[in-house]
Amino acid sequence: MYLKTFKGGIHPGDRKELTNTVPISDCPPPKEVIIPLRQHIGAPCEPCVNVGDRVLMGQKIGEATSFVSAPVHASVSGTVTKIENYPHPGGGEALSVFIENDEKDELFPEIKEWDLDLSKDSIKAFVEKQDAKEIVEKVKNAGITGMGGAAFPTHVKLSPPADVKIHTIIINGAECEPYLTTDHREMLENTKKIILGALLVAKSVSAEKIVIAIENNKKDAISLLEQETKEFDNIEIFTMLTKYPQGSEKQLINAVTKSEVPSGALPSAVGVVVNNIDTCAAISEAVVTNRPLYERVVTVSGDAVNNPKNLRVRVGVKFSELLEIAGGFKEEPKKIVMGGPMMGIAQNNIEVPVIKGTSGILAFSAPETYGKDEGACIKCGKCVEVCPMRLMPNFLSTASVAKDVEKIKAHNILDCMECGCCSFICPQRRFIVQHIKAGKALLKQKG
Ligand code: SF4
Ligand code: SF4
Repeated sequence: MYLKTFKGGIHPGDRKELTNTVPISDCPPPKEVIIPLRQHIGAPCEPCVNVGDRVLMGQKIGEATSFVSAPVHASVSGTVTKIENYPHPGGGEALSVFIENDEKDELFPEIKEWDLDLSKDSIKAFVEKQDAKEIVEKVKNAGITGMGGAAFPTHVKLSPPADVKIHTIIINGAECEPYLTTDHREMLENTKKIILGALLVAKSVSAEKIVIAIENNKKDAISLLEQETKEFDNIEIFTMLTKYPQGSEKQLINAVTKSEVPSGALPSAVGVVVNNIDTCAAISEAVVTNRPLYERVVTVSGDAVNNPKNLRVRVGVKFSELLEIAGGFKEEPKKIVMGGPMMGIAQNNIEVPVIKGTSGILAFSAPETYGKDEGACIKCGKCVEVCPMRLMPNFLSTASVAKDVEKIKAHNILDCMECGCCSFICPQRRFIVQHIKAGKALLKQKG
């Protein structure tokens, strides 16, 4: 059967077998959480609690400071012991709230227990009576951001310009990064909440159609969702070819709708809003119970980890504690990454905390990582063939190394999404993405 996809891309070994059949387990709450006030793209939050305050689980501790921002909430009940800068998994340091856990998990009073029956009729009736603006307000108050890595505040996606008609919601179940299996497990274990979340997203922007797009390496999730969405006329399950980076927004939209999002534009420019699987589950919780986003599922995996797992964890728990729960290291890892191996962020400190965008913590042995030496470009053109953005990675890389700002601009460096396909395919193991990142920084500096 011909399966939909996009032009370019690569087929790295996915290594998902390490965790794709491992059910999500609840991670015991840590004795202390460290919650950064910089959790997402956009302006960081400002603290709205003080040292010495007792806070409840789900209570707001960081106030959003602009529209493109999302509040931050306590993930345990306990006492605020410090508010100070602390290393951040995204790089550098961020102002962070330290909470000593009183181990009571006392919920903030506005948060209810889940009381909605998830039968199809009940879901339909619940969605029917929701108000679009109230859904967006609840999503905003719950501090929900994209949970696939980029962590864009979700209420912003659900507030397109008034003159833009959104016709389709795409729920991103591609999970194309190797090793990661949180979306896959959520689709299997939290199916109905994901469907409810998708319907609420559609209601919030008055979209007629919902497409849940899944790569064909998750056949069990595809058949379960097909079964569970049978009676929802506006939901389609869309099977895509397994190819990296199928889950990237522009490539996903192209595979599903054939539309091309123009350079520098948002998906709403082609009438589409994209949300990921975990985000849909979080939206259901926010609308039904007022529960903010203070926990998430994280895949802890990699060939250097003893017992790879999918863990439901509190935001603010340290990476080191999760690696310990996954049995510790088989051998000293050469590289530790937050996110997937292709676009994830390398870590030099495992005492950093989980944030809303932490989809994975991966530890790799030396053979699984790149070597240190890069060769000269042999002009084979392979990087050009695989670039999903149809750029010339070889030119961008050499122009960046040469600090040639005019050439960098001429070759549209800002369209590069740093997916890593070019570095992966390069026979000379050239550090193309690192060079491009340096080129972008140079462009920013020189204007
Ligand atoms: S793949 Fe590597 S060697 Fe081939 S053209 Fe691109 S940069 Fe040069
Ligand atoms: S140039 Fe950028 S977008 Fe193209 S393959 Fe390389 S990293 Fe991906």
